[in-house]
Amino acid sequence: MNPNRKDRNRKRAVTAALLLVLAAGVLSCPGEVGPPRRVILLGIDAADWQVMKDLLEEGRLPNFSRLITQGSTGRLDTFLPLRKSPILWTSIATSKLPDEHGIGGFVKSSETGETVPYTGNVRRVKALWDILGEQGMTVAVVGWMVTWPAEPVNGYMVSDYIQYENERGIKFEKQTYPEELFDEIDALRLKESDMVDDRVAHIFPMDRTPEELGAQDWQKAYVKKIFATDETFRRIAHHLNDKGVDFLTVYFNGVDSMCHAFWDQRMHRNHPLNKVIDNYYVWIDGVLGEFIDLIDEETLLVVCSDHGFHGRRKAPDGGTLLGIYMHGEYGIVGMMGKGVRKGSRIIDAGILDITPTILYALGLPVGRDMHGRVLTEGFESDYLEGNPTTFIQTYETGDRVAGEPIASPVDEEIKKRLRAVGYMQ
Ligand SMILES: [Zn+2]
Repeated sequence: MNPNRKDRNRKRAVTAALLLVLAAGVLSCPGEVGPPRRVILLGIDAADWQVMKDLLEEGRLPNFSRLITQGSTGRLDTFLPLRKSPILWTSIATSKLPDEHGIGGFVKSSETGETVPYTGNVRRVKALWDILGEQGMTVAVVGWMVTWPAEPVNGYMVSDYIQYENERGIKFEKQTYPEELFDEIDALRLKESDMVDDRVAHIFPMDRTPEELGAQDWQKAYVKKIFATDETFRRIAHHLNDKGVDFLTVYFNGVDSMCHAFWDQRMHRNHPLNKVIDNYYVWIDGVLGEFIDLIDEETLLVVCSDHGFHGRRKAPDGGTLLGIYMHGEYGIVGMMGKGVRKGSRIIDAGILDITPTILYALGLPVGRDMHGRVLTEGFESDYLEGNPTTFIQTYETGDRVAGEPIASPVDEEIKKRLRAVGYMQ
């Protein structure tokens, strides 16, 4: 295309955009160029384009392929040096640095050396859902890390603690907001006992003996437990979506957990467990497809991870680094739906950009004290012209008081799982 023609096309596009703005103004046509009425944010821990590469080429991830061709996608830089996922997800939801939001990892050690998992009340700044609620938008938040005790929101909060079995069977408070939501969603929860072998056979070869697999019994139980959690969150997210909220977000941990547990087997072509991670990606691709199908002309879907996956690293002393050192420096980001430029690439995105981008997409100003930017390259130019980015000094009005981690009846279960993936000694 010669530059003159390009210029003419651009002029034509600008004129068309102006006409659309005028038409929207005159006819108050719902959302022709105005912001989406609704945003859905899917968080997929550890999702990584590089890990998906072969599956994408083989056509086994049709919905991630749709996201790439029908939406706008790119890599998402995580924090370096590598940080733990609760820190990252809190930065994703706040566009604030770890020192500012105050969530320092999975567990906090007290002066007496006791460890308690970080809890939501420790967060010093507002999360995206707090800001949206204050602006009159309804929200539903499902399964996000560090969201117990569930805080009042303008809508629904289902904390990550509902995934634990709570072996002592004590029903404890604030697993959901409002409190009575717990009884409503209880039937949607899948417990380990619900996870018959058939239910996970598409991920883990349940018909093989531990001897054949070279696996230990815990791996079978582990896959069941992790999958039960993701399935639970998926089911609850759909349930809450049916209530018609302006902002829905759900977090899925399974890809990260499977990568930690089965990465070495994946590297061995003939190992009977070398497909567990791929199988899990195929499942999460189906979940993505369900949410893509919910996109209407007023919806924006955003998908992101907090980091990628790299596998074992060599320590300087020749040993092996596990836990978070298995994470990769590039996660994923994708957008699809209203205003999104089809098939375009998002460049140099980072985890701090998610919250500003969603605020922008919902027609709200970006906080000047946020550290990310609006991922404008993901949007159509006429949409950008019709919807300029606006700013506000801050959303922090100073009424948030941060506390110390609160102990819960599921703390031992949480710590047991952290030890299993090498996040904790
Ligand atoms: Zn991880």
